[in-house]
Amino acid sequence: MWPYHPDLLATPVARYTSFPTAAEFGDDVGPRDLQAALAAVGEYEPVSLYLHIPYCREICWYCGCNTGAANRSGRISAYLQRLGEEIDLIARNLEGRGRVHRIAWGGGSPNAIAPEAFDALMLRIGQAFRCDDPVVSIELDPRGFDTKWADTLGRNNVSRASLGVQTFAPHVQEAIGRVQPHADIVRTVAELRGAGVDSINFDLMYGLPGQSADDLAETLDAAIAMCPDRLAVFGYAHVPHLLPRQRQIDAAALPDGRTRFDQAGLAYRKLCDAGYQPVGFDHFARPGDAIAVAARAGMLRRNFQGFTEDGSEVLIGLGASAISAFPGWLLQNEKNAGRYHLQIGNGRLATARGLRRSPLDRLTGRLIELLLCTGQADLTDLPDLAAIRHRLAGFEREELVTWSGNRLLIGERALPYARGIVATLDPYRQHSRNRFSSAV
Ligand code: SF4
Repeated sequence: MWPYHPDLLATPVARYTSFPTAAEFGDDVGPRDLQAALAAVGEYEPVSLYLHIPYCREICWYCGCNTGAANRSGRISAYLQRLGEEIDLIARNLEGRGRVHRIAWGGGSPNAIAPEAFDALMLRIGQAFRCDDPVVSIELDPRGFDTKWADTLGRNNVSRASLGVQTFAPHVQEAIGRVQPHADIVRTVAELRGAGVDSINFDLMYGLPGQSADDLAETLDAAIAMCPDRLAVFGYAHVPHLLPRQRQIDAAALPDGRTRFDQAGLAYRKLCDAGYQPVGFDHFARPGDAIAVAARAGMLRRNFQGFTEDGSEVLIGLGASAISAFPGWLLQNEKNAGRYHLQIGNGRLATARGLRRSPLDRLTGRLIELLLCTGQADLTDLPDLAAIRHRLAGFEREELVTWSGNRLLIGERALPYARGIVATLDPYRQHSRNRFSSAV
């Protein structure tokens, strides 16, 4: 189905959930930049909020998120106190500008906190910001999810939930340090549907240690049987030099590049055969789901949460390590929960890293986003088009991309190569390649 060209997959590439990518962030920005960005928000401009909960019930060995064990309730309540203060601090800087139309909870595991704390923070958001009937979404760890949490989500009008499923194969679960009974997922899905959550996403993974094609096929069948509205299928990125917790994973048991490629193809085929619409290069959705509708209408976007139908240009990240995106800035809060705590406790915004986006960054970012979301973009306005064409020669030779004048088109057979293709537009790429994972 997909042609295999290992040479075109050999270079590690970013996920391009932002441009420039976080690898280019520096420490020459700070709270004043965030204040300037907030001051530039329009009175009725749509604003999306992201709240980061850097705690989990248990830490999975493969995880690349900024999270720690939720084993000290005092530490969590102190963090939540500061998160509430940050909500007020940001709202004060907005002075009533902006309309919150999305609230996304991620982590970590937002359900590692108490449901009462979630209620309190949702109330605080409603009091602090001007809200416009926001769509509320949450990432959940099915382990530990219960009826009380389901009731809490229903009460707060949460309509979207994403479950970390990864694999149903018990031996693979053991190998990645995430033992999660099938029954937990079935129960969680039923609880969520009962609570009125009408879009449920499953995150699945391929390329896991000891994972065979049969393991993956059985996981996909089990997932499809539960009728999730969306699925995201990611290749496991083994980067223990960046994520020490991954040293617990037996590298010798990891599938090779060819096997990973075949597994990505297997997932694509099975999900398409089951009636899911491919969205971007790693998402799938029921044709009636909002993200599938957006993709068909050419309105799909890409931000820190991956592919999305959220068209907002202003995304405000709250919590340790959370990233805010504005047209002219990408700004990240202190990653370390202790330093974040100190900064907010002293009444200061917690911006620690990031960058100012030049006009060329913004143009390049939009073109990369268009290529990943719609499969085509007119590159006429890029200053170094000849060099980009040169870098794309290998992809062109294998008919993975075509040109129509200066319009670059990525074919469906090139989906596994999409990140590598857009990386040719990235002038920073040569300096930061060792920070990324393989394209498939
Ligand atoms: S539950 Fe999710 S966020 Fe937490 S450690 Fe596991 S993979 Fe990471």
